[in-house]
Amino acid sequence: MIQHTRRTFLKVGAAAALASLSQARTAHATDEPHTMEAGISPLSQFNYGEVELLEGPMRQQFDANHALFLALDEDMLLKPFRERAGQSAPGDNMGGWYDNSKDFDPHGSFHGFIPGHSFGQYLSGLARAYAVTGSKPTQAKVQRLVRGFAPTITSKFYDEYHLPAYTFDKTNCGLIDAHEFAGDQTAFDVLNAATDAVLPHLPRKALARSEQYALHQKDEAYCWDETYTLPENLFLAYRRGAGDRYRDLAVRFLEDDLYFGPLSEGQNVLPGEHAYSHVNAFSSAMQAYLVLGSEKHLRAASNGFDFLRTTQSFATGGWGPDELFRKPGSGEMGASLKDSHSSFETPCGAYGHFKITRYLLRVTRDSRYGDSMERILYNTILGARPLKEDGTSFYYSDYNNRYAAKGYYKDKWPCCSGTFPQLTADYGISSYFHDREGIYVNLYTPSRATWNQGSGRVTLTQRTSYPYNLSSQIDVTADNPATFTIFLRIPAWAGPKTTVAVNGRRVSTDLQPGRFARINSTWKQGDRIEVEFEAKTTLEAVDPQHPDMVAPVNGPLALFATGLLPASIQRTALTKAEQISKGSDTWQASTEAGSLTLKSFPSIQDELYRLYHPVET
Ligand SMILES: [Zn+2]
Repeated sequence: MIQHTRRTFLKVGAAAALASLSQARTAHATDEPHTMEAGISPLSQFNYGEVELLEGPMRQQFDANHALFLALDEDMLLKPFRERAGQSAPGDNMGGWYDNSKDFDPHGSFHGFIPGHSFGQYLSGLARAYAVTGSKPTQAKVQRLVRGFAPTITSKFYDEYHLPAYTFDKTNCGLIDAHEFAGDQTAFDVLNAATDAVLPHLPRKALARSEQYALHQKDEAYCWDETYTLPENLFLAYRRGAGDRYRDLAVRFLEDDLYFGPLSEGQNVLPGEHAYSHVNAFSSAMQAYLVLGSEKHLRAASNGFDFLRTTQSFATGGWGPDELFRKPGSGEMGASLKDSHSSFETPCGAYGHFKITRYLLRVTRDSRYGDSMERILYNTILGARPLKEDGTSFYYSDYNNRYAAKGYYKDKWPCCSGTFPQLTADYGISSYFHDREGIYVNLYTPSRATWNQGSGRVTLTQRTSYPYNLSSQIDVTADNPATFTIFLRIPAWAGPKTTVAVNGRRVSTDLQPGRFARINSTWKQGDRIEVEFEAKTTLEAVDPQHPDMVAPVNGPLALFATGLLPASIQRTALTKAEQISKGSDTWQASTEAGSLTLKSFPSIQDELYRLYHPVET
C-alpha cells in the first residue's frame, strides 16, 4: 500500500533525524562559541540582506506584500490603539477583525474580533522587508509606526479584550524585529511598556483551551487565547538584549504540563488541539532548547513535528482541516474531504511550518525538514491568492472532494494577513544556511546568496524554474579561489537518475536521497554546478482508513485535477501521468473513461479542482 510505504519512509526519516542530531552534538559540542545559546545549532541562518530572491513566484509574493504594507495608512493601523486609549483617532477603520466594534459575536459576526491584533505582524513584516531590501522608506515607516504606537500603550487596551496573549505575542514580535532589523533604538523601551500593560491580563501560566473553557469565561472567545505561543518571541526578546525579564516570562509560559511534557515522552497529544497555534508553539519549544539547553523541549518539537507529518498531513504538506488536529485511526482526515472546505489554514500554517522546519534543520542538519518545507511552499502558499489593499485575504486551501475552489476569506485583515508578509520576507533566509564548512542549498529557487568565506566574498547565483524543471544551475562568483563545501539538498523522493555536475563533469559523490550531498572544492570565479533530479509520480492515500482515496504527487508537487473528471480512475493511470512538456505546470493522465488534466496548486486560477481521487485497484 502506498500509504504504508509513505509511513514507513517517514519513520526512517525520524530515525535519521535523531542519528544526525547525535552526530551534530559530537561534532560541535566543544568548538562552537555560544554565548547566549545553551542548545547547539550547527547551521546558522543568513542575514536577511545576504540572500536576494531573483525574479520568480517567491520574489513576486514578497514584493507584493512589501508594497502593500509600505503603502498602508498609518492612522488606520493605529486607530484601535488610539481609540482604546481614549485618544483622538483620525482615519478610517481597517475593517474585519482589526476594528473596535460591538458587532463581534463568537457564533456570528467576526467584525471586531481582535482589535489591532496583527499590528505587530505588519510591523515585523516591514522590518524584515527593510532588512532584505535596504529600502529607506520602509525603515522610516517602521520607525514612525513604533513612535505612533508608543503613546497609545495602556493596560486599559486589554480590558474586555478576548485574546490578550495572542495580540501581545505579535506586538512583541513586531517591536523586537523593529529593533533588530530596522535599527529602531526606542523599540525595547516601547516593548517594556507594552509588557507592563499586558501582564495584569495574563494568567499565571500557559493555558490549554480545555483549561480556558473550564474557567467559564463569559463568552466563548475568551477561551481561545494562545498563551502557549508566547515563549518564542519572549526568548528572542531576551536573546536580542531586551532584558532578563523576558527569559523569565518565556519560561513561565512554556506549556509543559499538557503539551511539551507529553510530546517529549512520545505521546501524540495533538488530536483535538487548534492546529496552527500548536505548530507555532513548536517554535517556542525550540527557543527553550536554544536558550536553556532543554533537551526535553527539543524532543517535544521534534516528536510533535513527526506526529504532524505522519498523522495530520495531506499530500500537499498542509494539515489541520477546520483548524483542528485529528485522532489517528479515526479516518477523520479522509472524512474532512467530504465535510470541509477549510482544509488548511494556508498563510499562518505555512509560516509556522517554515519556522519549525528552519529550527529543526539548523539543529539536526536533516535535509528532510527542507523536503517538508518545499512541499508546503509549492503546494500551498505559492498558490495563495494575493492579499488585497482592503485586507481581503486568502485563508484556507480547499481539498473538498465534491468541489474545491480558491476563494477569499469572509472577514478582512484576519490572522493570515499578518503571517503572509512575515513569511514572504523569510523566503530568502529559508533558502540557504551555512556553517564554518560551507553553504547549504535548501530551496531550489532563483536567488543569490553572498557571504564572507575566508578572506573574500563569495556569491552563489541560482537559476532555475524548479519544480517544473527539476533542475538548477548554480554559479559561483569569488574574489579569490576559496575552499569550502557546497551542500545540496537531495530530496528523499529523488530517483537514481539524479545527477550533480561541476563545470560539466559529473560528480562521483554518492547521492543519497534524504541527505545533503557534500561537494567540496576550491571554488573559483565562473565555476558552475548543475543538479538534476529524477522524480516519479506516486500516490498518497489521505489516511490509512481511506486507502483508495489518493492524491498523485510528483517530486515536491501534489497534482490537482481540473476540468472534466472521468467517472472512474485507475491507480496506474494516475501513476503514469506525464508532464505535457518539459517545464510545464500541467500533467496529463489517460484513464479508461477519458483523459485527466492535472495542475500544480499555484497554476490553478478560478477553475474547480480536485486533489484526492477514489481509485479502482
Ligand atoms: Zn491565519
